[in-house]
Amino acid sequence: SITIGILALQGAFAEHQIRLQNLRLKRKIETVLVKTPEDLQRCHALIIPGGESTTIALLARLSGLLEPLKEFIRVKPVWGTCAGAILLAQSVTGAKKDGQELLGGVSIDIARNGWGSQVESFEAPLDVTGLQDPSVPFTGIFIRAPVVLALEPDAPIQVIARLAPHLLPEPAEDENDPRTVVALRQGLHLLTTFHPELTQDDRFHDYFARKCVFPTVPGVVVG
Ligand code: GLN
Repeated sequence: SITIGILALQGAFAEHQIRLQNLRLKRKIETVLVKTPEDLQRCHALIIPGGESTTIALLARLSGLLEPLKEFIRVKPVWGTCAGAILLAQSVTGAKKDGQELLGGVSIDIARNGWGSQVESFEAPLDVTGLQDPSVPFTGIFIRAPVVLALEPDAPIQVIARLAPHLLPEPAEDENDPRTVVALRQGLHLLTTFHPELTQDDRFHDYFARKCVFPTVPGVVVG
């Protein structure tokens, strides 16, 4: 079977584990809550949950996980949700110089809490390219969510979900505005600025397992 780790230093890691355990593919998947470099070594793939990105980064440093995580991201699939998406970004606009340690891996610039304090959280229906039952929108739950500010022009990024432009704090005129991007893939990695683990809908976890993880593990056949 395949081992998918969930970084379990702080944040919504338990909810991700429940969603993975719910999948129809579950007999092919084992889950591990990752708290140490040894836990990480057992994993074929990793989810970095939402929470507080500065806290997660600090705890990763204290646990000796910072360098092992960076190395892991170079070679294995990683999915970052919300705070996890911030940690996967290559840069954070507005971060204090010594205030935010990043793991990198995805060629975007992102802003923390980019919806402003008057919009702490909201839900929005999303059309996501490649999910099962595509006619059923996926409920995006955004909680103090980051906003994508820029995609590196030549990076092999596939945007898989956008928010309607009129929902942005400052409405976008152009539907290609990077701030509408809420889910994307780059190489092995998946990034969502919202929280699929807080819904009862397993399709995003199924997507990560089937599209990002299983193809990297030889000998595993997905039925
Ligand atoms: N605002 C948090 C941060 O900056 C992310 C919020 C979340 O993960 N729900 O890390």
